Amino acid sequence: MRTSDEPSLERRVAQALRDDAMRAAVRAAQERFRSGKRAAEDELGDWEAWRALGEAIRRRTIENLDLYLAELADRVEAAGGHVFFAETAAEAVRYVVDVARSRGVRRAVKSKSMVSEEIALNRALEAAGVEVLETDLGEYIIQLAGEAPSHIIAPAIHKNRREIAALFSRAAGTELSDEPEALVRFARERLREAFMTAELGITGVNFAVAESGTLVLVTNEGNARMTTALPRIHIAVMGAERVVPTWEELAVLLTLLPRSATGQKITSYVTALTGPRRPGESDGSEEFHLVVVDNGRLDLLGTPYQAALHCIRCGACLNICPVYRQIGGHAYGSVYSGPIGKVISPLLGGDAWAELPHASSLCGACTDACPVRIPLHELLIEHRTNQAAAGKRPAAERLLFRLYGALVTRPALYRRAIRLARFCLRPLADREGWIRRAIGPLAGWTKMRDFPLPARRPFLDRWAAERKRRGRISPAPKRERRKGTPAGRPPANGGTEGGGR
Ligand code: SF4
Repeated sequence: MRTSDEPSLERRVAQALRDDAMRAAVRAAQERFRSGKRAAEDELGDWEAWRALGEAIRRRTIENLDLYLAELADRVEAAGGHVFFAETAAEAVRYVVDVARSRGVRRAVKSKSMVSEEIALNRALEAAGVEVLETDLGEYIIQLAGEAPSHIIAPAIHKNRREIAALFSRAAGTELSDEPEALVRFARERLREAFMTAELGITGVNFAVAESGTLVLVTNEGNARMTTALPRIHIAVMGAERVVPTWEELAVLLTLLPRSATGQKITSYVTALTGPRRPGESDGSEEFHLVVVDNGRLDLLGTPYQAALHCIRCGACLNICPVYRQIGGHAYGSVYSGPIGKVISPLLGGDAWAELPHASSLCGACTDACPVRIPLHELLIEHRTNQAAAGKRPAAERLLFRLYGALVTRPALYRRAIRLARFCLRPLADREGWIRRAIGPLAGWTKMRDFPLPARRPFLDRWAAERKRRGRISPAPKRERRKGTPAGRPPANGGTEGGGR
C-alpha cells in the first residue's frame, strides 16, 4: 500500500509543500470537480434524500455482507466464472499470478483498480515475467512516471500537461507536442496495440450485483470495455465490500457516484458483465475469474469503523479536503489518500499509517461531501481516541495532554496559568495583542498564522460576571463530597446546577 519510500509523514508533507507545480494542479482539479459536483447536486434535486438512500443501501449491504457475497459467488459460478476469496493481499496476488503463469500469459492489460494497487499486483506479475500495461490514461501516465496514484479517481491529478508531454516523449523516443490531442493520440496508438495482443485483461470492480452475479465497471475512456472484451482471460479484483444486492439499488449508487466524483450525470461508459463469453456472443473473455479481497476488511465488521466499508470510492472527500489541497496525494504515503485514506489506511495497513488520522483539521467538510454519509471526521477522532487509550502517542504528547487535563479541570489553577502565560508571552506580542513571530514550539504555528495573546481577563471570569449580571444564576455551589462518592465525580443528575432551570 506504500506509495513513498520516505518513512516520515512530516518529511513527505514538507516535500509536497515545496512542489508548487503539483499544488497548482491539485488546486485546479479540486475546483473543477467541486463546481461540477455542486451543479450536479442542484440539477438532481433533494440531494440530501439521495444521500440518505445511498447510506441506507450501503448500511444494509454491509450489515449482511456474508449473505450478499455468498449470493454473488453462486451467481458468478452459475454464469461460468470462477470465484476466489482471498483473505490476504498475498493470497490474492498468488492466485492471479498462478492463473497467468499456468495459461502462459506474457502480456496483460489492466483497467484502473485501486485494490490492485493496494495489493501491489503489478509488481508481482512483472516479477513473474508478465508485462502489465495500464490502460486508463491517468494510470498510464503514472506508470510511465514510476509513481503510485495520487487520487482515487484521478491518479495523475498532480501532473500538468508539460510533465505528461515529457513522459510521453520519452516513451515515444521523439519529442511530442503538449497539446492534449497529440498526447491522447500517442496513448491511444500504444494502448490499442496492447489491447489486441494481451492474453489477460485485469480490472477492478465498481459494483458487483449479487442478484445476478454481474460486475459493473464505470470509465470515461472505454478502456475497461476493451480490457474485458479482447483478451481471452479476464480477472476482476474486487474489495469484499463492493457488492450491491440488487439492480434497483445499483441504480441509486450509480446516480450518486459520477455526480459526486466528477459532476457527471453518468460516466461515458458503464459496462456490465455476467460471466465469460457465451456461445453466440461476439466478444468477451473465454475465461473469467473474480478475486474477492478481504485483506482486513472483514475485521471491521461490528467495530466502530464499519461505516468505512460503505465507501463507494467517489473521491468527493478528497476534492473538498483542505489538507489534500495543500499536500496532494503522495504525501499520505498510502495508495488511499485524503480523508477516506486517513481512515482506512491504518485499518488495512496497520501502524505504518498510524500518523495519518492526525493529519486533519477535523473541519468535517469530508463528512458533508460524502454521498453515502460516512462520518469521516468522527472516524478520525475514533482513531485518535483508540491510539491515545492504547498509549501509542509520543510521551511528550501524552504528558502535554495530562497537564492540559489537570489544568482545565481546576478552574482556579487554570486562571492562574492563563495569567502567567499572558505575562510570559506579552513581550512577543504587538500592540493589537497578536504574536506574529513566536519562538520555540509556537514558531511553526506563526509561520502560517498569528497567535493571539491570552486575554487580559480570562473567559471564565467574564462568563461568571455575565451570569451574575443577568442575575439568573447564583454562584456555583461548593461541591459536597457525598458519602460513598469519590471526590470530584459528578452527581447522578449529571451535575446540572439547580436541575431543570
Ligand atoms: S468516503 Fe465518501 S466521499 Fe470519500 S471516497 Fe468514499 S464515498 Fe466518496
